[in-house]
Amino acid sequence: MRASMHRAASAALTQLLQFAPPDSPRSLPCSCGSQARYKEQRSKPVLTIVGLVTVIRPYYLCSRCHGGQFPTDSELDIVNTEFSPGVRRMQALVGQQSSFDRGRQELQLLAGIAVTTKAVERAAEAIGADIAQRDQKEIDRALQLQLPLEIGPKVPVLYILLDGTGVPVRKSETEGRQGKNQGQPARTREVKLGCVFTQTGLNEEGYPIRDVGSTTYVAAIETAERFGKRLYVEAWKRGWSQADQKVVIGDGAEWIWNIADQQFPGAVRSLTSSTPANICGTSLAPSILWTRPHNNAGFSAISPNSTPARSKS
Ligand SMILES: [Zn+2]
Repeated sequence: MRASMHRAASAALTQLLQFAPPDSPRSLPCSCGSQARYKEQRSKPVLTIVGLVTVIRPYYLCSRCHGGQFPTDSELDIVNTEFSPGVRRMQALVGQQSSFDRGRQELQLLAGIAVTTKAVERAAEAIGADIAQRDQKEIDRALQLQLPLEIGPKVPVLYILLDGTGVPVRKSETEGRQGKNQGQPARTREVKLGCVFTQTGLNEEGYPIRDVGSTTYVAAIETAERFGKRLYVEAWKRGWSQADQKVVIGDGAEWIWNIADQQFPGAVRSLTSSTPANICGTSLAPSILWTRPHNNAGFSAISPNSTPARSKS
């Protein structure tokens, strides 16, 4: 039934995507400064979420620079691609969950859409690059001028947790980088991970509980300075300026407390000897942040601006 509905829908959609030749104007401005003249109708296949369709639309060609253009493709958001925006969104979604090939299989299973592994990779990376660019713009803007005050419900306790962890990368990504062992080339790059979450309640043992679903994440392979700004923008969006209590959690790494100094002065500092990256990661499943400390792995809240020290409690 699904397959036949897809066939019917893609046939109907193809009918809607037959664009007529232009009456006027028969020419368009070209990026070279000259004019591109209407040349002919051209067709291309486009894979949509209901299957393969054929788009027919006007083609314009510039006689000076020989650049061609399809204005309809810009309107439909299918410039230089044979995948509809809906399919690209799906590809990016499955592509960021696990391997690209696994994503391809999931698309087939869940949506009945057959694509190549490479197509999943391309769409996921293109949307990823787009997101990264927009994030960077936002960070730049935030640093140039004061961020607008976020108006929302007041947050009793807002936490920032940050850590770094090595991720295996291709050889080309570690070229010229010193590994942990003297004389050995680096095999990993450090990805910095930060999460922001709220806490309003305690569990029956009196330990604070992270509010379910309140965690947002930022991550990047970049310098501590840049990452500090990225995390600052995220914290701001979550209402950092309006929180009654602000807490920064991290391990003993120096860069973490440098970021705390620069971006989050005045926050309560909480030092953990267990691995914050693991705690960050587990938030997707359990909502309890602190369990009863065992061995030496505990948290300690210490007064603002004092040097963090490991806790035995
Ligand atoms: Zn031109």
